[in-house]
Amino acid sequence: MSLPIMGAPDKKAKKLTVYTIEECVKCKKPVKREFKDGDLVHKILDKCKDCNENIMISLIYGEEPKKN
Ligand SMILES: [Zn+2]
Repeated sequence: MSLPIMGAPDKKAKKLTVYTIEECVKCKKPVKREFKDGDLVHKILDKCKDCNENIMISLIYGEEPKKN
């Protein structure tokens, strides 16, 4: 008897595009961009140009490419 292994790589699975959402801790203005190596949720990236507060990664997620 064999059970399916959850989380095992499936070659048939669609390739996801991974996106990172950056957000200023004060303005809360989300900016979506493609994921880069080293991105981590809650990582501080830069200072906001508008208010000089920290910009933090609020979310990293995968999205299926749109079907044509
Ligand atoms: Zn700001």
